[in-house]
Amino acid sequence: QAKRAGGNNFQFYSSDMRVASVEQLALETSLRKAIFKNEFVVHYQPKMDLGRNCITSVEALVRWQHPTMGLLPPKDFIPLAEETGLISAIGELVLERSCRQAMQWYNSGLGDICVSVNLSAHQFRKGNVLEIVDRVLETTGLPAELLELELTESLIMEDLDKNIALLQALRTRGVELSLDDFGTGYSSLSYLKRFPIDTLKIDRSFITELDQSPDDAAITRAIIDMAHSLNLRVVAEGVETDSHLEILRGMGCDSIQGYLISRPVPEAELLQLLETQKQARA
Ligand code: C2E
Ligand code: MG
Ligand code: MG
Ligand code: MG
Repeated sequence: QAKRAGGNNFQFYSSDMRVASVEQLALETSLRKAIFKNEFVVHYQPKMDLGRNCITSVEALVRWQHPTMGLLPPKDFIPLAEETGLISAIGELVLERSCRQAMQWYNSGLGDICVSVNLSAHQFRKGNVLEIVDRVLETTGLPAELLELELTESLIMEDLDKNIALLQALRTRGVELSLDDFGTGYSSLSYLKRFPIDTLKIDRSFITELDQSPDDAAITRAIIDMAHSLNLRVVAEGVETDSHLEILRGMGCDSIQGYLISRPVPEAELLQLLETQKQARA
């Protein structure tokens, strides 16, 4: 196709492709190095329990402190990390760091703060998630109940029976399981009842216009009611305004997460939030 289009076109097309792949390769090389150089940092975003009106849980969100490009968000490197399989090594680093951190909060008497870690499909495909979780819980000493794993429907659906067995094994240990970005996947509700999970996280796309869109409000209410009848807890993500908060409270949502409570923040800042909360309760 490119050849038939003639000389100039071909030249342009091929050099363009080469630039893209050289850039890709450079990024892949530096991503590989980043693992050994320990350039990943974990930020934490609180979730607020609406019943108790306090932070009971935080989500670990990875960033890459790139030597020249600055602090990179997941969207700039997670896709490449997935493609190259490097996500498994990165995910393991994040899990270890987060559990060690949560153990420190636990030891500091800041309350039982649960840490949620996102898992990728590649980690599941590798088949060693259980060994890794066991090792990390053992080396950090974190009670399994204070670790939550966030998974997506599409990840579970990739190998349904095998993954359900794996999730059951995790739950037997006391690890909490949460279904992330709920409502954006393609899986049917008949599968939902088979997933051994504890929590549904309603995707941000339903929350953003909650106070303007009767459709989004209807969907959100339906998800919350359905989750509760299945004995699942519900977290709404992407809560940015008081009006979102009040609507969700009215609908009986269990927890909220979003910029209204806090953006994802570095360790030190989260510690301050937790200490302020502890003092306010004392
Ligand atoms: P996610 O797990 O659904 O995380 C929620 C994302 O929404 C985070 O983006 C968070 O900063 C953002 N967010 C939270 N509250 C609000 C809000 O009120 N408004 C808006 N506009 N955005 C909000 P972030 O940190 O850029 O992470 C993006 C995605 O990258 C995550 O989506 C998750 O899928 C993935 N990710 C992050 N860390 C890891 C990791 O350690 N491992 C894996 N496999 N994936 C990760
Ligand atoms: Mg998540
Ligand atoms: Mg999410
Ligand atoms: Mg999301």
